[in-house]
Amino acid sequence: MHQVEPKVFLVGETRIIKQGLTDYLEHIGVPEWRSDASTDAERLIEVMGRLCYRSFKPGLNPNVKKIREHNKDYLANILKVKHGSVIEHPVINFIFADVSRVFTHELVRHRPGVAISQESLRFVRLDDLGQWLPLAIREDTHAVEIFVKTFEKLERLQLELAEHFQLDRPGVPFHKKKTITSAMRRIAPIGLATTIGWSANIRTIRWILEMRTHPSAEEEIRFVFGKVGEIVLERYSHLFGDFTVEIADGLPHYKPAHRKV
Ligand SMILES: Cc1cc2nc3c(=O)[nH]c(=O)nc-3n(C[C@H](O)[C@H](O)[C@H](O)COP(=O)(O)OP(=O)(O)OC[C@H]3O[C@@H](n4cnc5c(N)ncnc54)[C@H](O)[C@@H]3O)c2cc1C
Repeated sequence: MHQVEPKVFLVGETRIIKQGLTDYLEHIGVPEWRSDASTDAERLIEVMGRLCYRSFKPGLNPNVKKIREHNKDYLANILKVKHGSVIEHPVINFIFADVSRVFTHELVRHRPGVAISQESLRFVRLDDLGQWLPLAIREDTHAVEIFVKTFEKLERLQLELAEHFQLDRPGVPFHKKKTITSAMRRIAPIGLATTIGWSANIRTIRWILEMRTHPSAEEEIRFVFGKVGEIVLERYSHLFGDFTVEIADGLPHYKPAHRKV
């Protein structure tokens, strides 16, 4: 058994194919158009938004005489008028490691705009349980003892069952290992540390960031999305620039000016 702290890794993001975009801009007659966005996610949203009205330059659509020049202003307006479908285009990819099944079960309640790959406890043997202690437990010596003792006991039972079924004996078929490992997880604690890959579009991230850093949300998901917030506010500042951060119970609470875009 070992102690852990939930971790957030930003592992991917949508990228623009330069040649494709150049070809498209030539096709509509604005080969000179450039965006001053600092990320492809922000640039892509600008392109998808501008194509709706052909607002790449004044007069390209005779109805459009004036345009917002800068990516920052353009995206701020998209958020203000809640043109939310446009911000669904880019997807950001995260890995959340050393998170509990308490956390993952809450995370997967958010459905649209996400992709999920979760560590399989049918396949992965629980021979060394990771444990993260919420503050209420951390602050109480007796509660810590109970948590540690319980995890140690449940880990021992996993090892005992693996021994009982002789899972490590040479020649045990993989199918049998899988069946037994899957059965054994039923007596593992819901607080055990695991890993989940999570990808989501910007619209979804904005919503979950607001909901899951709210002081009424659970501590671990607040902790994890506090870290997500730190990353996305810094990296995609034009898409999250309307968020303000307040600290509540030692954790950040991210509040958007434009709710549910
Ligand atoms: C503090 C807190 C306490 C909670 N307690 C509980 C609890 O006790 N028990 C429990 O079961 N859950 C609980 N939840 C989970 C909650 O009920 C939602 O299931 C979860 O937060 C997903 O959010 P969402 O409903 O906004 O859906 P998401 O899947 O995040 O969807 C985003 C938005 O898309 C739209 N949308 C999605 N699906 C549909 C649809 N089928 N039809 C129409 N519009 C749709 C909605 O506008 C929705 O808000 C809790 C959540 C929080 C934050």
